[in-house]
Amino acid sequence: MTSSTSASASLTIPAGHGKAVRLKAGQAVRVVNTHGTQVVDCWAWNAYDLAEYMCMETTRVWNQRLNPIVGDSFVTNQRHPILTVVEDATPGVHDTFMAACDRRRYELLGVKHYHRNCCDNMFEGMFELGVTPPRPNLASFNIFMNIRVQPDGITLKTLPTVTKPGDFITMRAEMDCFVAFSACPQDIVKIQGQGDNTPKPVEIMVLEDFHSDLPGTPTWVPQN
Ligand SMILES: [Zn+2]
Repeated sequence: MTSSTSASASLTIPAGHGKAVRLKAGQAVRVVNTHGTQVVDCWAWNAYDLAEYMCMETTRVWNQRLNPIVGDSFVTNQRHPILTVVEDATPGVHDTFMAACDRRRYELLGVKHYHRNCCDNMFEGMFELGVTPPRPNLASFNIFMNIRVQPDGITLKTLPTVTKPGDFITMRAEMDCFVAFSACPQDIVKIQGQGDNTPKPVEIMVLEDFHSDLPGTPTWVPQN
């Protein structure tokens, strides 16, 4: 793979909070796991039609993988590519299966007061851009999240991240889109790495002019 980058803008997502960005097709966004321990939930929408959103179910059909690797595209609920993974400087462990956390999730975990959550963070990030997503979307791309299929082939195990400080993933926009991120506030289920399970801030960078020779993947079709 060859790629090059020019002008970039970066912003910090405070621990337990959310931010969103608007990308033009061809731009890219890099998510840096500053402390190496943080799970980051991610959603995306067609900038001109918020009813079209990045969809984990159609993406798994498209790529025939539990989660994408470099060169794989995420597709929307209308099966159009929206983001392509163009760099992954991590061990490649991410998740497309686990629902984003929401207020009810923390109630079920025994929390009696309001607990920050990825669902609300997604709305907060988009509201900052003046955009209101039409509905909650629990099916997020859970960057750096470590969910392992067990040897029986059907059981999932929730584990802490395996990333190191500074590990990152970069996704290129295949259409003009909004992309929202939540630095997951989860501090009960042990998903944040390095032992103490404390939510940490992460960095996102918009790469204005990202060039990559990766074409993105065509959809999988069965071979005879
Ligand atoms: Zn979360």
